Amino acid sequence: MRPFPVILSAPSGAGKTTIAKKLLERRSDLGYSVSCTTRDRRPGEVDGRDYNFLTVDQFLAERDAGGFAEWAQVHGHYYGTLRREVQRVLDSGRHCLMDIDVQGARQFAGAFPDTVLVFILPPSGEVLLRRLNGRGSENRERLLVRLHNALAEIGDVARYHYVVVNDELELAIERVSSVIDAEAVRHDRVHALEEQVGALIAQLEQEINGIQRGE
Ligand code: ADP
Ligand code: 5GP
Repeated sequence: MRPFPVILSAPSGAGKTTIAKKLLERRSDLGYSVSCTTRDRRPGEVDGRDYNFLTVDQFLAERDAGGFAEWAQVHGHYYGTLRREVQRVLDSGRHCLMDIDVQGARQFAGAFPDTVLVFILPPSGEVLLRRLNGRGSENRERLLVRLHNALAEIGDVARYHYVVVNDELELAIERVSSVIDAEAVRHDRVHALEEQVGALIAQLEQEINGIQRGE
């Protein structure tokens, strides 16, 4: 089976980073494409693990050199997915998990049509606000920007193949994991399916002939 890209999108605070981290801990068939961003590092975030933290000049130079499979401005900062990161993960035989906003997801799926698009929804507006506040990473102004963007992002949900409500974290992780399992056995992803089926038919025909000859 060919490994494929999996994109998680969600309004900020819905829990996609938490879900992605847990899936990566639990599944050895997944790898993470580390994005680039020009936003400030949050406490606990590590450069090169959570994001490649770039200056605006560095980001624009990478963009102009064609290094990004997609890029977008989100909440007033640049974010982008490096082509070489995606290729590194896929070449290692793992599905490439990404956390990308709705504009970027659309661009990326245009370039990589076998991408699986999963939208994570919060169970309610109240819960989303509580989670964003609980994370403690946004001041009032930045919080409002993220909430306004949430309204636009949720409107894009119908472009996605799957929708998972992140109410109970464990259930949400399991649902996304099930999506990946199901996608892996889709007939167009099964390696050399025609040859496999052809060989099976030939074997069965032999068996039938044997029975008919009374062997
Ligand atoms: P996102 O990456 O979508 O912006 P995060 O993964 O950073 O969101 O989650 C936002 C906050 O909500 C974090 O503090 C996280 O621990 C918390 N959180 C995520 N999922 C759940 C859940 N199912 N129940 C309760 N808290 C959650
Ligand atoms: P955060 O700043 O909370 O980590 O992420 C903010 C938003 O940027 C989220 O919607 C997240 O999905 C998005 N994002 C993260 N990495 C990328 C990326 O590489 N490309 C795009 N287009 N969006 C990204």
